[in-house]
Amino acid sequence: MSHWPFQWNDNVILIDRKNREYYLKLTPGKVKDIRGGKIPHESIVGQKEGTTLKSSTGESFFVFKPSYSQFVLNMPRKGQIIYPKDTAVILIWADVFPGATVVEGGIGSGALTLALLRAVGKEGKVISYEIREDFACQALANIERFMGKVNNLFIKMKNIYEGIDEREVDRVILDVPEPWNVVAHATKALKNGGFFLSYIPTAIQLKKVVDKMRESGAFTSIQPIEVLIRPWNVEGMSVRPAHRMVAHTGFIVVGRKI
Ligand code: SAH
Repeated sequence: MSHWPFQWNDNVILIDRKNREYYLKLTPGKVKDIRGGKIPHESIVGQKEGTTLKSSTGESFFVFKPSYSQFVLNMPRKGQIIYPKDTAVILIWADVFPGATVVEGGIGSGALTLALLRAVGKEGKVISYEIREDFACQALANIERFMGKVNNLFIKMKNIYEGIDEREVDRVILDVPEPWNVVAHATKALKNGGFFLSYIPTAIQLKKVVDKMRESGAFTSIQPIEVLIRPWNVEGMSVRPAHRMVAHTGFIVVGRKI
């Protein structure tokens, strides 16, 4: 898809000289206004990724399809999403592979779900438990906007603390406030060798879920971690860490079913 010229309804990201990003969805009749410079959406249709275009005030912009991280950081959200830095690690630490069956707890705005769908591919599937209809609708709209219609995502309007219906699943991945309530259910749902991963914002939650995983005796290689990405400034002689970074988002704990 990404090598085709832009078409109506495509998601587009414009990047200015200072690397600032502007997000739009190509809609007939719409005009993007950036600092008074006008860019009719029509002028982007038919262009290829990476080309430059000028607004009515002469400012130039590069035009791209948004990457996964650009999309999730710009999409409408309800509540907190899992940040791309954490998602990157979740996919590998939970060893999400093409063809896997993944049970997800808490679809939220669908940021993690999108990454899971891409990682499992068409042969795999994602089953997401969610208790709030408004979140499920928002997530589905975001997912369809980025990937088009998907037929391997199954949203279940169910409380995951009350159980997981599936059996022999490859991975259980949670972003719910009390993941310790899911440890026993995940133990039943997972295949031997399957991975159980939770993302949690606070240290108290981390301790509770790790304790529960240990007590259950059902997991080995339990690893509580945190992901920090420190950007650097590389300009002339100023080669040093950037002054600002995203410091705390959440903890990740992963273990493997025995
Ligand atoms: N990972 C998501 C954000 C999830 S926010 C993202 O990246 O976009 C947490 C979600 O879990 C919310 O949508 C909330 O409604 C849902 N949730 C909370 N408790 C739950 C439970 N017991 N069972 C299922 N879903 C639950």
